[in-house]
Amino acid sequence: MSKNHERIHIDEKNLCHLCVTELESIYAELDLTEAELEILSAPRQTITVHFPVKFNGTTRMFVGHRVKFNDARGPSKGGIRFHPDLQVDHVSDLAFLMALKCAVVDIPFGGAKGGVVVNPKELNAGQLELVTRAYIRAIGDFIGPFKDIPAPDVYTDESVMVWILDEYENMKRKHVPAVVTGKPLELGGIKARQYSTSLGGIYVLEKAMEKLRIGIPGTRVAVQGFGNVGENAASILHERGYRVIAASDSRGGIINQDGLDVPELIKHKKDRGALQGFAGARSISNDELLLCDCDVLVPAALSDQLDSDNAGKVKAKIILELANAPTKPEADTLFVDRSIMLIPDVLANAGGVVGSYFEWIQNINNDYWEPDRVLERLKNVMTDAFDAVYALCEQEKSVMRKAAYKIAIRRILYAEKLRGNL
Ligand code: GLU
Repeated sequence: MSKNHERIHIDEKNLCHLCVTELESIYAELDLTEAELEILSAPRQTITVHFPVKFNGTTRMFVGHRVKFNDARGPSKGGIRFHPDLQVDHVSDLAFLMALKCAVVDIPFGGAKGGVVVNPKELNAGQLELVTRAYIRAIGDFIGPFKDIPAPDVYTDESVMVWILDEYENMKRKHVPAVVTGKPLELGGIKARQYSTSLGGIYVLEKAMEKLRIGIPGTRVAVQGFGNVGENAASILHERGYRVIAASDSRGGIINQDGLDVPELIKHKKDRGALQGFAGARSISNDELLLCDCDVLVPAALSDQLDSDNAGKVKAKIILELANAPTKPEADTLFVDRSIMLIPDVLANAGGVVGSYFEWIQNINNDYWEPDRVLERLKNVMTDAFDAVYALCEQEKSVMRKAAYKIAIRRILYAEKLRGNL
């Protein structure tokens, strides 16, 4: 925290890590008051629940979290992840990022994040359903369409969203489709939500390429991660004429400088459960993928992939952060020094929550849009956000992450001011 500011928060040891450690220079440039800093430095609500689940008569205890970081601009919004290493402090950082993300793209939501400490690969679908339902019973009073709205995140998908919806509706004894987004079409979802993170990112990427005067045909892209976001990104990029040369999943990656046949690769992954072994491609590790010779690098897996060890060797001209927080701060600085354009997560992957916003509007109004309308609005929201961030970047000779954070922080604080909290 800035040396000019003395901390006055009562719970100094439990402040949001990301917020108080990494944004110092931004706060200084924004010249925030102590009260403004205080308001940003801790989540509004942190819930940790311990709940029992019975598997074949044996009880196991699980731990889940839900952090609502800030809801000055609207109900808080953010995914639920299942991960064995989930920690509440990281959930809090991710909730803060969600608040920033919703503000960057100017949609009326605050930020939240949640999850359960569990390795979904070790459970079958029935057990995962029991865990999800028990978690929702435990946090059910804290979520709701005008309170806090969950969505998919790492290792959670449409089926998990259905269990969330059904359990919540059982608790409330009525239909409440807007309580969760990322649902299947038949239960109030929208088709585009499945790929809105990837497509939104690609809209923004194409704006960036225009600025750098790079054309689409033949542009070589490496995609790290082949979950929902990575797979859809690879597939859309391939359809639009990019050359997807490398891809990876948690077991490792593959590369072919002539380009991968992405639809065939998706089939291969479905049949074999892994990308490696794909005909005509060479196996590489996840680390090698990040450093491969390409024009655009798309980290679409977990956090902290780019650090001071590898950032100096990245060859891409543009990095599109489709994952949340894939770049450590020290790597950020190296990319700036090397004039690599980094499109930060809060802008690059915001298409997911924008898709969620459209789903939520349609659920609330019980009025469903034509798919073209969804895509048109997604493109408008994403390109407007890019333009605003890029304009500030140019004006201040700054970088995109800084510009995006500044825009978001100003918007959140303005909402707090209007509410009389500042
Ligand atoms: N989990 C996604 C994210 O990190 C989506 C959140 C949402 O749609 O609420 O942006």
